[in-house]
Amino acid sequence: VIQVEGVRKTFGDLHVLKGCDLTVRSGEVAVLVGPSGSGKSTLLRCINQLEEPTAGRVLIDGVVQGYRAEPLPDGRWQKLRPAEIAAQRSRIGMVFQRFHLFPHLTALANVMEAPVQVRGLPRAAAEKKARDLLERVGLGDRADHYPSELSGGQQQRVAIARALAMDPELMLFDEPTSALDPELVSEVLSVLKDLAADGMTMVVVTHEMGFAREVADQVVFMDEGRILESGTAEQVIDHPESERLKGFLASVL
Ligand code: ATP
Ligand code: MG
Repeated sequence: VIQVEGVRKTFGDLHVLKGCDLTVRSGEVAVLVGPSGSGKSTLLRCINQLEEPTAGRVLIDGVVQGYRAEPLPDGRWQKLRPAEIAAQRSRIGMVFQRFHLFPHLTALANVMEAPVQVRGLPRAAAEKKARDLLERVGLGDRADHYPSELSGGQQQRVAIARALAMDPELMLFDEPTSALDPELVSEVLSVLKDLAADGMTMVVVTHEMGFAREVADQVVFMDEGRILESGTAEQVIDHPESERLKGFLASVL
């Protein structure tokens, strides 16, 4: 379970998140939508501690992210050290709009990298796992190709396999298809659908409303740093309440 409680984020005078509350249960898919600049990426980055909330907190399975599980004897909560934050973050997979694959490594080596380097998994075990994951995203026959030899949709699927290789308990996707040519979008969305069907907990920023309708347990509309509406796809997409959401939907549907 992810709980976002009263999260605020400011950059100088700029109030990017103005108090966000969100609960995503285990195995649920939350789809985050909203206009450019509304704070969607910043909220994802607060969930996996790439940004530290200015106020509020994020709990995953009841554990406040970025802090020790127990307060000090004097009752103060102590922040984790960077290495400990990195360990906490390694339970969360993140996939970005741009694929960020290592260009000098094959698809297989990209997927093996973190399990070997970060977890110390033996190479043979890491390779077996990487091949299984590439198979799972439909790229079993592309394992030995370099990123430059793959289409955008294939590269994004390698990026998803790479994130899955760390056995994340939660996957965050930030506009995973918006850099792709239209004909490549569906192959990536179908991987996300499979993951959802397998029970992965996911938060997905996307403007693909068809995907939201089909897969989302919860659709969340962000506007100017606030969660303005949330609910089922039927509630949020088919029966929007606010003028802001109606206007947004008119622009993306
Ligand atoms: P988009 O749909 O364009 O990706 P978004 O909803 O993801 O938008 P964010 O990227 O979260 O929006 O940005 C929200 C606001 O915060 C923007 O005005 C952005 O310029 C600002 N912002 C984000 N990160 C920083 C930063 N590190 N320093 C200063 N301002 C930032
Ligand atoms: Mg963004």
